[in-house]
Amino acid sequence: MRIANHVSIILFVAISGAIGLALSVGMLLSGLEESADASGRAAERQRTTELLLGYGQEFVDAADAVSLEDSEQSLAVLNRATERCLVHLLELRHAPVLIEKELVQQAVFSAEQMIQHVQQAQQRRSAGALAADDLAALNRTAQLCMRRIDQLHGAAAAAAAEQMSALTGRRRLIMLIISVVCVAYLAVIERVRQWTTQRLVRPVQALADVAIKAMEGEEELPPVDQSGPTELKTLALMLGTFVETLKGKVRQRTAELERQKANLEREVAIRRQAEEQLRHAAFHDELTGLCNRDLLLDRLDCCIERARIHRDYKFAVLFLDVDHFKEVNDSLGHFVGDQLLVEIANRIQDHLRGTDTLSHVDSNTIARIGGDEFVVLLDGIQDRSDASQVAERLQVAVSEPFQVHGHEVLTTASIGIAFNETDCETGDRLLRDADTAMYYAKAAGKARHEVFNKAMHAEALARVELGNDLRRAIDNNEFEVVYHPIVSLKTAQLSGFEALLRWAHPERGMVPPLEFITRAEETGLIVQLGQWVLEQACAQLRTWQEQLDISPELSISVNVSKRQVSNPGLVEEVQRILNDQGLDGRHLKLEITESVIMANPDSIAEVLHELKQLGVQLHMDDFGTGYSSLSYLHRFPFDVLKIDRAFLNTMRAKKDYAGMIHTVVSLAHNLDMEVTVEGVESEDQLAQLLALDCDYAQGYYFSQPMNAAAAGRLLTSQPHWIRKTAGRRLGFRRSFQWNRIRPIAKHLRALTG
Ligand code: C2E
Ligand code: MG
Ligand code: MG
Repeated sequence: MRIANHVSIILFVAISGAIGLALSVGMLLSGLEESADASGRAAERQRTTELLLGYGQEFVDAADAVSLEDSEQSLAVLNRATERCLVHLLELRHAPVLIEKELVQQAVFSAEQMIQHVQQAQQRRSAGALAADDLAALNRTAQLCMRRIDQLHGAAAAAAAEQMSALTGRRRLIMLIISVVCVAYLAVIERVRQWTTQRLVRPVQALADVAIKAMEGEEELPPVDQSGPTELKTLALMLGTFVETLKGKVRQRTAELERQKANLEREVAIRRQAEEQLRHAAFHDELTGLCNRDLLLDRLDCCIERARIHRDYKFAVLFLDVDHFKEVNDSLGHFVGDQLLVEIANRIQDHLRGTDTLSHVDSNTIARIGGDEFVVLLDGIQDRSDASQVAERLQVAVSEPFQVHGHEVLTTASIGIAFNETDCETGDRLLRDADTAMYYAKAAGKARHEVFNKAMHAEALARVELGNDLRRAIDNNEFEVVYHPIVSLKTAQLSGFEALLRWAHPERGMVPPLEFITRAEETGLIVQLGQWVLEQACAQLRTWQEQLDISPELSISVNVSKRQVSNPGLVEEVQRILNDQGLDGRHLKLEITESVIMANPDSIAEVLHELKQLGVQLHMDDFGTGYSSLSYLHRFPFDVLKIDRAFLNTMRAKKDYAGMIHTVVSLAHNLDMEVTVEGVESEDQLAQLLALDCDYAQGYYFSQPMNAAAAGRLLTSQPHWIRKTAGRRLGFRRSFQWNRIRPIAKHLRALTG
């Protein structure tokens, strides 16, 4: 059944019940009204009869009061009372009061008799014949009339009482019926309510409960009641479907949420791992996994703090730099270089983990703080010598050959050691001190260790100042170029000049290059300075060529530093300068030291060949000071070997230098190279070099380096023996050579003072 039908039934029952109730109550109320009217009437009749009783009594009293003496008056009173009583009786006869008509009629008759008797009495009195008997008769009639009225009253009272009791019973009945009707109505209403509750409210409530539970997300929903009206059944059905769908969706969503939760947990784990890695990366070196500078400084701070509290606590910082690492990197590539660093890191770790009683892996810190820079923090050493022992062992460990990607790499380590000494140490400062000591180890020949001392720091400061000074000097144009003659021992001619850099320091005076070239090299300023010297020297030669009558073979030698050679723009730069000055390449001789070449032979060979393409001559400078292998020489396109003056001095001390030089000269000549010997200071040396078939000589024996003006004067002086000997090769007879050389030397000395 549909809800509309239910509602119709309810409405029908309610309305018809209400109508029935209203009708029956109305009817009952009208019955009540009627009974009220009847009771009113009974009461009225009662009242009328009582009134009548009063009138009757009145005329009985008036009849009693009739006397002979006052007959007229009293008869009149009696007459009036009787008439009044009669009037009432007559009214009663016509009134709708239910009193027996006969009794009323008898009373009326008595009253009319009474009036007749009174009128007779009045007539008799008027006639003066009124007697006591008349009055007695009158009295009797009055008594009779009174009895009739009494009877009437009694009958009326009885009738009224009867009627009243009948009315009361009827009224009770009506009230009872009303009550019953009401109760029945209420019962019907209650039934309707129950029915409505059962058929409509409960199903709706059940549906609502299910809906609420579904809304609250309860998993176990009660089955939806399928009873009730059609709409509710449909609704229940739909709700059931909806609930099922919802459950499905909830299951789906739950599964999805669980999947998301799993994803989230995975992401959290990944993020945690990433954070962990980040944290690790923040404090560790990516390549080797060792601590980085930050973590090292942190640990250093802890050690410093501990040292402040415990006076006898000592620690040391070992600053280890891999020797020749750049060469490995440049020659074998960064990949091998990186792997070498990892291997070195492992060795340091293994070594510190090993048998060394000084090493406690938990407290010692190993860090990589730069390219090939490692730092070992030895935490809690007994004695300063402990640190040296560890340094020595580390050196031994690092100097063992490494097998890296099929290459056997040999390297060494330079180590600087610093100890905590004062309260005001900082981690940075200790690191700096150890670095300074390491710098000294490098400078002292590498593969060794040095312990920091204060003088080192002072020198390091001086180095820094020197670097700053150099920058300022470049800005202030404090540099100049001097020229040192180079003499051909074959032609006895001035073959050229070596351009040498000088620093005209405003306070220190003329500063020799050995005091600043290394620093300029370290700071990279040498590139700028070297280029400037090259430009100056080429420009000067060009000026001499243009302004003076000089040999067309006169050349200028310019020193090229390691930094310049590794600078990719060198070849273009040389070409540009030659072009700018309009110089032929053969007039320029570039001097590159042996150590520069041996540091990185492969890449240098390439640059040298390119330079050679420009027609430039190449001289290997400072030959004999390094560790060059003679077998290497043919790989490089050198034109001249320039034997270092130290070589000359050493050989002289050992007394067998002549043989050595002779070997070198022979080798050079065999390789189609010439030999220049620098540092010739004496006639004796010169004589020997001539005997040994050397090609060129340079030294204070001939001249000190001179400024451009002095060199110009030397060229313009044109001593006749220079021109005379031009183009002629000197003979090999020693005496002959002496004759030629001695005047050249004298002349040069005279010119340069
Ligand atoms: P070097 O290239 O081997 O230059 C020769 C050095 O030996 C010069 O010293 C020269 O004055 C000195 N010398 C020559 N003959 C004698 C001698 O008989 N006795 C003595 N005691 N010394 C002699 P200088 O000018 O002090 O130059 C030293 C080094 O500074 C040079 O050695 C060179 O390596 C470097 N240098 C000088 N100028 C430059 C430059 O412009 N660029 C570069 N890269 N290095 C330069
Ligand atoms: Mg030189
Ligand atoms: Mg030299």
